[in-house]
Parts: sequence; C-alpha cells; structure tokens
Amino acid sequence: MKPKTNPILPCAIFGHNYKRSKTYIDHTAELTCTHCDAVVITDSNGNFENNTVTNSQLKDTLQELYRLTRTVSKTKVTS
Ligand SMILES: [Zn+2]
Repeated sequence: MKPKTNPILPCAIFGHNYKRSKTYIDHTAELTCTHCDAVVITDSNGNFENNTVTNSQLKDTLQELYRLTRTVSKTKVTS
C-alpha cells in the first residue's frame, strides 16, 4: 500500500463508496469510504453527519462569510 497523497479519483467523480465500519451502542454508525478512508457518522435516524470538512463545504462557508462581511461593511459605509 502506497501512502495516499492525492484525492482518489473515483470519489471525486462518483462520490464516496461508504461501508459500515462500526456500529455504536446508541444506534449511530461509522461509515468508512473503501476508496479513500473518508469517515462519516450517521445519527440514530440513519442520516449522515459529515465528520470531515470537504473542500466544497469549506468553499460554501467562505463564500457565505465573504457575503456577510461585505454586507456588514456596506452597512457601515452607508450609515
Ligand atoms: Zn472516498
């Protein structure tokens, strides 16, 4: 096994291939991607709770932050 330095291509194109790796006593489960070892935790309803911050999530957050910052500075200028 070589060390993983690049994102695995199938995950980038097709999404992760999650497989249940752990089941917790509170009925939540840990899913691990068989390709790139990304881990997500499901809640007791089986919904994904992403444990890792993906690039797109980070981008969205930064865009939102940028938008808010601009709105705030705009308000300051016009008041
Ligand atoms: Zn993956």
